[in-house]
Amino acid sequence: APLIGVLALQGGVAEHVAALERSGARTRLVKVPEQLDGLDGLVLPGGESTTMTLGIEREGLAEPLRGFVGSGAPVLATCAGLILLDRAHLDLLPLDCVRNAFGRQVRSFEADLEISGLEGGPLRAIFIRAPQVRHADDAVTVTATVDDAVVGVRHGAVEGYAFHPELTGDDRLHAAFVARCRRA
Ligand code: GLN
Repeated sequence: APLIGVLALQGGVAEHVAALERSGARTRLVKVPEQLDGLDGLVLPGGESTTMTLGIEREGLAEPLRGFVGSGAPVLATCAGLILLDRAHLDLLPLDCVRNAFGRQVRSFEADLEISGLEGGPLRAIFIRAPQVRHADDAVTVTATVDDAVVGVRHGAVEGYAFHPELTGDDRLHAAFVARCRRA
């Protein structure tokens, strides 16, 4: 089974670990750079991107994460995890994220989304103070939208979502990611 790391500085770590293990992966929590060694893939969970950024600085994880993601290893980033990859943060995806972009009143909502490349019909997506993707380069493939907002992207071996696929019990995105890590 592929060994998949989950960045475990803050946020929805346990839910991703559970979804990955239900999908047949082995998992490892990543809190320090050495824990990236030997991984077949990496999940960047949702949570609070400012807190995670401080943790990345504290643990000296910025360059190791750039090296891991830049090497072309499979990455699944959700919500705050997607924000970490944008131009203003680790600069690993050529796009900008607008934080809390769905408004302060509507902190949380759900929608059934068609995800390009995902079989089995629409996916229930839970948005919690979610970002939107703006100004993506042409090299970025948009895989999901809600109204006209971009909430799913693919760029090389990185897939990112503004919502929380780990919270619904529908493990199709995790299963596809685990399969991708197994092939890589
Ligand atoms: N609003 C959060 C942030 O900006 C992200 C929300 C989430 O990950 N659910 O970090």
